[in-house]
Amino acid sequence: MSQSNSLESDFYTKAMTHPIIEIKHLSRIFQMGQYQVDALRDINLTIHAGEFVAIKGPSGSGKSTLMYLIGCLDTPSSGEYRLCGQEISQLDDQEISRLRNRQIGFVFQQFCLLSELDVLENTALGMTYAGTKQSWRRSQAQELANQVGLGNRIDHRPSQLSGGQQQRVAIARAMVGQPQIILADEPTGNLDTHTSDEIMERLHKLNTSGKTVILVTHDHKVAEHAERIITLVDGRVVSDKRTTRESPLHDGAGIEPETRHNMTGNLRNDDLIKMALREGLLAHKLRSMLTMLGIIFGIAAVIAMTAITEGGKQHQLKQLRQIGMNNIQVRDLDLQAASLLRQRRINPRGVTLDDMQYLRQHINGVGAVAAWKVLTAEIRYGSTVVGDVDVVGVHGEFESVANYHAVQGRFIDTIDEQRFARVCAIGPEISDELNLGVEPVGKAIIIGDQPFVVVGVMQSKLFTDSKIADISIANRNRQIFVPHRVLRFFFRKDEYASELDAISLRMQSDAELVGQSKLINHIVSQLHLGAEDFGIFVPLEKLMQAQQTKRVFNVIIVVIAGISLIVGGIGIMNIMLANVTERTREIGIRRAMGASRRHVLHQFLVESLLIALFGGFLGLLAGIGSGLLVQQIFGLRVAFGWPIMAIATLVSMAVGIAFGIYPAWLAANKNPVEALRN
Ligand code: ADP
Ligand code: MG
Repeated sequence: MSQSNSLESDFYTKAMTHPIIEIKHLSRIFQMGQYQVDALRDINLTIHAGEFVAIKGPSGSGKSTLMYLIGCLDTPSSGEYRLCGQEISQLDDQEISRLRNRQIGFVFQQFCLLSELDVLENTALGMTYAGTKQSWRRSQAQELANQVGLGNRIDHRPSQLSGGQQQRVAIARAMVGQPQIILADEPTGNLDTHTSDEIMERLHKLNTSGKTVILVTHDHKVAEHAERIITLVDGRVVSDKRTTRESPLHDGAGIEPETRHNMTGNLRNDDLIKMALREGLLAHKLRSMLTMLGIIFGIAAVIAMTAITEGGKQHQLKQLRQIGMNNIQVRDLDLQAASLLRQRRINPRGVTLDDMQYLRQHINGVGAVAAWKVLTAEIRYGSTVVGDVDVVGVHGEFESVANYHAVQGRFIDTIDEQRFARVCAIGPEISDELNLGVEPVGKAIIIGDQPFVVVGVMQSKLFTDSKIADISIANRNRQIFVPHRVLRFFFRKDEYASELDAISLRMQSDAELVGQSKLINHIVSQLHLGAEDFGIFVPLEKLMQAQQTKRVFNVIIVVIAGISLIVGGIGIMNIMLANVTERTREIGIRRAMGASRRHVLHQFLVESLLIALFGGFLGLLAGIGSGLLVQQIFGLRVAFGWPIMAIATLVSMAVGIAFGIYPAWLAANKNPVEALRN
């Protein structure tokens, strides 16, 4: 900022004492393969503020080359060029662009308006790069449009205007920043005589108001409008004469520092985004859409697949809680026939309460222990009969181990067991099926052929009737709980049956589940004299194994999505490269109006960023949509998490930047002169 201020104040103080343009021994050589074109040779030229100068010469004599050099769009091969006392070769691109933006207004033979912008926006273009607010810009542009007689055409596009009208817009555009110098390269070359006269009239008016006007022409008649005619032939100045015309103002006159308080020189973000949207994305909608596909697929795949795996994981976790999180279970293997006999010969009672007592005493870190045995029976209450009910004989701290509690009355306790009491706690569904009414506690029901008193009703819990690993999860809502001793005494039928179905130890932490399960396995194996009639089951371990396989699956998804994103990125790069080539002229025009390399870089980078970001957003929607579809069709649970969505957004932005940076760099480094020539 301070640099720009000092630059500008320098400009005004020096302009009063120095010539506005000072060129010494300047030459410009173009290398065309083996050939060398000397477009300008040893030019020496001084122009003072307020002059009206025509640069005349035949085609190919170097007029345009000289004008581009004066306008700081090109750099000389050798020699000095001072603009307002500032040696141009000492300034960087941003300083030069700012100088061009504030002090020079260009008018070209081919008008060079931007086709996507209307009259007002074209007029105000330079002020966009000065960083002014849109409202201010528009009012300035409106005033200028009125001045050039296009006040009623402000929303027309260039294609809707005649050549003369377009050139008037170009003149208004050159005036908008109130520059000191107007550079016009064959401004009437494409116009009829009548319109030409009108344009020349406008340039005269500008000169009268104090501007330095430099007019390039090959036409002698047009040159006669100026007060001074410099003739170029073959890149050399061959004559420099004053005409009979005289400008009303001279050196320094009319130069006053204007208030330029709102010109920051930084392109505003809203302008940048608007520019990228209009000239990039929306100018070629189908193309932008197709370019986004890679990103859309990549992001959608990640979102949908993680939602499905995450949903599955949460589902399993929920099931796990039903069994008990940190539990280790010793289970009777449901052996049949010969192998059952063989094992029972070694260890007659299967998994027993003695095993449980031993484990409770010898394993560290046990929080609670319970054991159970399940049989099926028919139950009755009055005339209501319900068949095929799980009767669970429980021992120990079943409520806390299974995390399943009584909501009415109480659960079976140790005293019941000691007293051999024929009491039961019933699942809520059983209570309903037996029509026990609102107060089941205290009522007597028949289990098998024995009467039992209901002491409690269990809570209603959502049990998903399914399997985790190989252990099925029973619907406890439809179970009846009795003391284990009672079950054994009254319901014992099969002499080879195991005393218990399972012992469940709830550990205090999940830190050493695997180690302890191994120890338990070892102990029980010894207690069973080596019989292979039991299995150790660690639900959490099973879950982790299941997730391990899913992790492999996740890696595959990430790889597929990554490839898709890279392909998407390459698509963006491809389109942006085509864009840069296609829009070379636009880039040239913008540079002439004061855009710095950095401005152009930002414009194209924001374009690719927006393509990627929109792609990412659509991918997000597509991912959520397909996730929900999978849920609907296959009944799989899905869970969407914010972090993955945030990551997806960041990744698509990163892709946009990574693959947009090279095309944007190319755009920024396009030679503005070459861009304007064709
Ligand atoms: P004028 O505007 O007087 O018609 P120019 O300044 O356009 O002339 O060109 C002067 C000479 O320099 C011509 O011979 C032209 O072919 C050559 N020239 C201009 N620009 C380039 C370039 N970018 N590369 C090669 N030669 C160029
Ligand atoms: Mg030319």
